[in-house]
Amino acid sequence: MIRKGDKLYSIIKFKCPYCHEGEFFQSKNPYNLKQMGEVRKACCTCGGKFSTEPGFYQGSYYVTYALGVAVFVTFWVATVVLWKDYDPVIFCAIFVGAFLMLTPLLYALSKIIWANFFFSYKKKDPK
Ligand SMILES: [Zn+2]
Repeated sequence: MIRKGDKLYSIIKFKCPYCHEGEFFQSKNPYNLKQMGEVRKACCTCGGKFSTEPGFYQGSYYVTYALGVAVFVTFWVATVVLWKDYDPVIFCAIFVGAFLMLTPLLYALSKIIWANFFFSYKKKDPK
């Protein structure tokens, strides 16, 4: 369904936005807190650079914000639908706990989404 060449492939698999083969992050696991969100300087497969200027990934904070809002709305709608007499205080406590658990994943997703805004897939020429 999602194939190499789709931006979603690069985002979900944390692969290089240029070739969709090389790794984008230093660590494949976003929950590896020692290397959380550390982007490689360039792709080890195609050599494509993952940054155009210093501070390039500061813009990914906007993506983090959008993902956070999406998670909150999804969580809130699910709570209202599934839990008729919900307590807002308990809801907030559960949401904050769940959001803290998701933070490393959202941080990594925001960086790879931001990179995919600027870098496109370049299909290799068959030789
Ligand atoms: Zn690459």
